[in-house]
Amino acid sequence: MKRFLSVLILILCSMQMLPALDVKITGDPIDYKLNETEINGIPYVAMADVHTLFKSICKQDRGDQRLYLHLYGETFIFLEGSSFYNFKLESYSMHYPIQRIGAQYYLPVIFMRENLPLHYASQMRMNRGKLELSKPINRNVQVIVLDPGHGGKDPGAVGRKLKVQEKDVNLAVSLKLKRLLEQELGLTVLMTRSDDRFVSLGDRTKFANEKQADLFVSIHANASKNSSSHGAETYYLATAMTSDARAVEALENQVVELYEGGVSARKKYDDLDFILSDLSQTEHLESSNELAGNIQLNLVAGSGFYDRGVKQANFYVLRGAYMPSVLVELGFLSNPEEEAKLADPQYQERLARTIFEGIKRFKFRYDRIRNT
Ligand SMILES: [Zn+2]
Repeated sequence: MKRFLSVLILILCSMQMLPALDVKITGDPIDYKLNETEINGIPYVAMADVHTLFKSICKQDRGDQRLYLHLYGETFIFLEGSSFYNFKLESYSMHYPIQRIGAQYYLPVIFMRENLPLHYASQMRMNRGKLELSKPINRNVQVIVLDPGHGGKDPGAVGRKLKVQEKDVNLAVSLKLKRLLEQELGLTVLMTRSDDRFVSLGDRTKFANEKQADLFVSIHANASKNSSSHGAETYYLATAMTSDARAVEALENQVVELYEGGVSARKKYDDLDFILSDLSQTEHLESSNELAGNIQLNLVAGSGFYDRGVKQANFYVLRGAYMPSVLVELGFLSNPEEEAKLADPQYQERLARTIFEGIKRFKFRYDRIRNT
């Protein structure tokens, strides 16, 4: 027993001897510690501990050795055994390779001390050996970007009978939806446009990423050559096999080139941009599908529009968004009956309410999952 105790004390002592990275969150009275583990003489932190602290998520790509770390609305791409990683189209070094022991990944402590504060300069800094975080760690849906499709020189679809312009319907419904989300859920709602102006597709998702939005909802109205086409449908981004394959290949080459030394990341900017566009949504496919499902269900039930279902398509406007993203097609402007409804402010209010109910339902479930 005595011997057991002395061994135990020895173990406890040696554990206490292990250094730890102190973490301080502004406004949080508790001090946090990230325990350090030595691997090949270099201090590392366990990815699981990083997740606990930041409520971050990892996704491992089976088949290759890539690891995607999603943290504060951004994605880091690591390659097992490599000290280089990709972040926002650029490659960076963290001096020591990411390590895997069993199923557990380890990040060099230097990544936490130097690289993270570099990437999130406004949210964290090292101060007297402590990592200070100013951003509260709350993964609830708080910021929603609404994207009224088209605008300015681009009218979108034009009604057959009343010549109603899609851009106007999209904006009217979005503004009503914004009010509901703000007033009834207290969310921050940002608009890619609040008036009749042209915004490029790329700028719409870029805006959502910059604002670190939790959801991206693009509002559109449909049109068809066939005036009898009718109903509502909700889309999320397709998993395009061909582009996925191309993306994986290009990224592989780039990281390997960097790992072997030298070639500039800029050279492959276009490819990488393309890759990250795809990756960004791949990670959110399930959530996007669920958001689309919730919106579609409520939209159809509340509007009386025919249910065309939840669909996948490769919409450019959804690509590159680092958050669950959907595109709603409210109804058909090419259908005279639906055109009249889409142009009616009261009906627009009703449509906004149905989408609101869909988002609300999604948010409640999503918040619970993300915070446990
Ligand atoms: Zn449209």
